[in-house]
Amino acid sequence: NQPTLGNPQNTIAVLQKYNFSFQKKFGQNFLIDTHVLDKIIRSAEITKDDFVLEIGPGIGTMTQYLACAAREVVAVEIDKALIPILEDTLSSYDNVTVINEDVLKLDIVKLAQERNGGKPIKVVANLPYYITTPIIMGLFESHVPVQSITVMVQKEVADRMQVGPGTKDYGALSLAVQYYAKPYIAANVPPNCFMPRPKVGSAVIRLECHEEPPVQVKDEKLMFRIIRASFNQRRKTLANGLKNSPEISLSREGIEQAIAELGKGTSVRGEALNLEEFAILSNIVGRLQQ
Ligand code: SAM
Repeated sequence: NQPTLGNPQNTIAVLQKYNFSFQKKFGQNFLIDTHVLDKIIRSAEITKDDFVLEIGPGIGTMTQYLACAAREVVAVEIDKALIPILEDTLSSYDNVTVINEDVLKLDIVKLAQERNGGKPIKVVANLPYYITTPIIMGLFESHVPVQSITVMVQKEVADRMQVGPGTKDYGALSLAVQYYAKPYIAANVPPNCFMPRPKVGSAVIRLECHEEPPVQVKDEKLMFRIIRASFNQRRKTLANGLKNSPEISLSREGIEQAIAELGKGTSVRGEALNLEEFAILSNIVGRLQQ
């Protein structure tokens, strides 16, 4: 039951058979490189015990590889024109279910409960780039039981997820991802591995979800409000960022006291703080707001 897709010839044959036309609005760039597919599957470390959620199976290329490696695969595809194609390309795999739905509207907590007894799942995908952040943050924030997320994303987004303070790519996404997971870029992937070719470079990133958060935060929502406020106005100081934010209800004096308690000067910028410092700051602000 070896995969039949993953090279340009077979992909073109399937597309022609069904007279399929690509939909730009759905971020459709299908993988046509078997080495990249092997690399994704190896990076995801899938075993026959695993339940895998695939987001956006396209014509089922990676789904075939996942079906061979995993115990069970559920693939969620928004484009209904792809459903008859998936029925065809996945007909010889009895451990795959395709759901025709917008992944952002799907109750994944319920899916993991029903299909995997609430045990941690693995998410593997060549993501539609227009909704990378909402998909990943949605998984984290709705507390879906997830062991790891191994996904193809835009190269620049992978860099943003992985970096720490002091680099231009560092921001709210870096901190959010690193609060929930340990990121690791497994491969860089050039545009010619896709059909049609995307305009940007891509990368496979593996996010290994923390069992316990790496820092102690009393109020996660408040920490993320502070993080957003700090990066909203990049060239401003942390104090000004917090003062100007409608999401933070602390006086100028309160904000200055909090930053002093953190052990920083008044001119410190948000992008200089690491995750641990944002955690400490949010615990101080939480206390002062009471
Ligand atoms: N996995 C396939 C591959 O690697 O060849 C296709 C990847 S393509 C980059 C992204 C896929 O996600 C497309 O099939 C697209 O139709 C689907 N998609 C886009 N938005 C979606 C959404 N909101 N929910 C579910 N699937 C979506």
